[in-house]
This record gives sequence, C-alpha cells and structure tokens, in this order.
Amino acid sequence: MAKVVIIGAGGVGGVVTHKCAQVANTFEEIVLASRTKEKCDAIAAQLNRPIKTAQIDADDVPALTAFLETEKPELVINVALPYQDLTIMDACLAAGVHYLDTANYEPKDTAKFEYKWQWAYAERFEKAGLTALLGSGFDPGATNVFTAYLAKHYFDEIHELDIIDVNGGDHGHPFATNFNPEINIREVTAECRHWENGEFVTTPPMSEMQKFECPEEVGTYDIYRMYHEELESLTKHFPTLKRAQFWMSFSDNYLKHLEVLENVGMTGIEPIEFNGQEIIPLQFLKKLLPEPSTLGPRTKGKTCIGCIVKGVKDGKERKVYVYQICDHQACYAEVQSQAISYTTGVPAMIGAKLLLEGQWQKPGVWNMEQFDPDPFMEAMNQYGLPWKVIELS
Ligand code: NDP
Repeated sequence: MAKVVIIGAGGVGGVVTHKCAQVANTFEEIVLASRTKEKCDAIAAQLNRPIKTAQIDADDVPALTAFLETEKPELVINVALPYQDLTIMDACLAAGVHYLDTANYEPKDTAKFEYKWQWAYAERFEKAGLTALLGSGFDPGATNVFTAYLAKHYFDEIHELDIIDVNGGDHGHPFATNFNPEINIREVTAECRHWENGEFVTTPPMSEMQKFECPEEVGTYDIYRMYHEELESLTKHFPTLKRAQFWMSFSDNYLKHLEVLENVGMTGIEPIEFNGQEIIPLQFLKKLLPEPSTLGPRTKGKTCIGCIVKGVKDGKERKVYVYQICDHQACYAEVQSQAISYTTGVPAMIGAKLLLEGQWQKPGVWNMEQFDPDPFMEAMNQYGLPWKVIELS
C-alpha cells in the first residue's frame, strides 16, 4: 500500500523496521537510511523480507530532500536523534512527504525540551496538505494516547495526571542507558518541571521521590519526579488538568554513577579543549558507554509504564490507572531488542500505520492526544503492547 523511509538505525530504528516489515499490507516498501549504512544493513539482515538501505546525513537538508524526491515515500519515520527533527521536517516539506517522530526537537547546545520549534511548522504542513505526527513513541506517545483514552471513556473532566515509567530490567552492566546515552543523560540531569494550578513549577533534578508498587508482581520501585515533554502538550490539550507530573524509576546504582559523572563534569554539554581538540564531555562519555542496541541479549525483567488519572465522572470523583507491562527477553526473542526500544518502536509503527491508512491523517502538526485514541489502543493490543485499565480507590 505505501512506501516509508525510516531514518535512524539505532535501538529504536531496529524495532520500527522489524515491526513495519511484519505489517506488509501497509508498509509495502521500506527504506532504512541512517548516518552509518552498515547499521542499516545489519538490521536488514535480521528480517525475513528484503528492504532497501541507504546512507544519509539528516542534518543536510538539500541532500535529504533530493533523497526523498528520488525515493518518493509517503512518510518519513524519524528515529534519528531529536537534533534532526527540524532538518527532517524541512526536507519533508520540500519533498511533499508526511512526517512522524518519537521525541521533540532539542537544540544541541542547550538541554531544552519544548514543542515550540515544531509547533511553529503547523501552518506550513497544513498549507502543504501534509501531516506531522509528533512523539509517537511510548512516553511521549502511548502515554498521551492513554490519557486521551481515559479522558474519553472514563471521565467527564480530568484533574490530575501522573505518568509513571518503571523499568525493572537489569542489563548487568555497572552503568548503561537504555536509549541514546547523550539524550538520556541530558533528560535526567535537567531541572524538574511539573504542572500545578495552571503553571509549570520548577524544582531541582531528582528532588522528589516515592515508592511505587507496580501491578502484576513487577515489583516495587523508587520513582523520581522529572520533566518530560508530553507534560507540555497534555496540559495544553487538557486544560482541566490542575496537576500533571512525570515519574521515572532509577536504581540507587544508576543514580550513584550519575552523581559521580556529574560531579566530575562528564555530563557537561559545553565544549572543552582537550589535547588541542574541542570535545563535549557528554559525547565523550557516550563513546565509553555500552551502545543501547547491545543491551538486548543481556537485559532481564519487565517494564511497566502507565498513567494514573484522577477526575470526575457523573459528579463523582474517580481514580483510574492504565498501564502496559513489557518483558525485556520476550522483546528480544521477537525483534532482537530490549523493551525500551521495543516500547518506543511499536507505537512509532502504529502511528505510521494509522497515518498512512488515513485514520490519523490531517494536514498540520499534531500531538498524539489530538487524534481519536481508540484505533491506537486497539492496535497496541494487536501488535505486542497489551494494556489494562484498573480502578484505584
Ligand atoms: P540511537 O542513538 O541508538 O540511534 C540513533 C540513530 O540515528 C543512529 O543510528 C544514528 O547513526 C542515527 N543518526 C544520528 N544522527 C544522524 C544524522 N545526522 N543523520 C542520519 N542518522 C543519524 O538512539 P535510539 O534508537 O535509542 O533513539 C532514537 C530516537 O528515539 C531518539 O530521538 C530518542 O530520543 C527517541 N526515543 C523516544 C522514546 C519515547 O518513548 N518516545 C524512548 C526512547 C527513545 P549512527 O549509528 O551513525 O550514530
């Protein structure tokens, strides 16, 4: 039915490519392009149907535009890094191609997580008759859809939202990040912001912690409040929210390593001079850490990501939890990747499928919660991310 270009051949790129390849009715032709072609070829070799691979630098708008004009896909799935979002959006506009990503644009020199740069493209996409779907991973992504689904089916008005991301997996390394280390460390060392009575309140990183017991015996974990980009779009699109917070689990071991690395300056993003050469400490650290895509075979345990929403239905207060549990080893058996990349790559495929099939296609730039959540929720059950809703007292 459609042709898709996937950009980025890291952990998430591998999963999206596997999942698109499984849905041949929609993704008739797949091109996997990235900075390093060998990584694309290695992913292609894992599949049981042929796909095309290519080398591309997504920072180079003219080259990427020419590539898209030659390939003529209907959609680009951007799973490169957040730094490439705007250049890929520019090339999509120039070549007349729909766009989808899993993380909001970040400038390289400041760890800023804001949609303003990408929202500013809305009019251009609308005029071009093209759809840009932002944040179609798990968080952001499935968590936005979870919120929209609960708001639609369980509440008349939603008042409080807690997004809780628990990774109970163990990869056996003293320190490693489950997705791109540079992006991950920028995110967790950033100041915390949460929504409280109509505005964002800033607190120091990792200053708020609580214990959270996951359902289905996944375990009890320490979860820390931090800023996450879906808070910006969700509080905009659900203005009845009085409070919205994001929580993520971290082990004592991870936090101990991070603290030392921060204290010695290894997480810095300002360039420093070393042996006559400019280096960015965090990029140097990334070189030393295990590649997230190599964690798959060694990671055991489960993830549990979901949303707890409080609000009112028929005049009564209510508290509802929607969650998804994923097993790292089951993911590896299916697509040779751990659950963090899996839980990101599957929603990217589902968003792409709904967009290409027209259910989620509308000229402009959109966040996930702006579309009908029902077909997305149904597809999560169908394509490997089954979820549950429970009433909490
Ligand atoms: P990786 O670092 O594993 O992979 C990134 C890939 O992009 C690499 O193949 C890299 O190439 C390629 N790339 C980087 N720069 C360029 C460029 N200029 N041109 C072409 N290709 C480029 O990251 P992940 O797979 O872990 O993450 C991918 C995306 O998914 C990120 O944006 C991340 O923030 C997002 N994400 C979203 C989540 C969600 O739930 N919403 C959760 C996890 C991740 P090379 O191999 O040469 O370095």
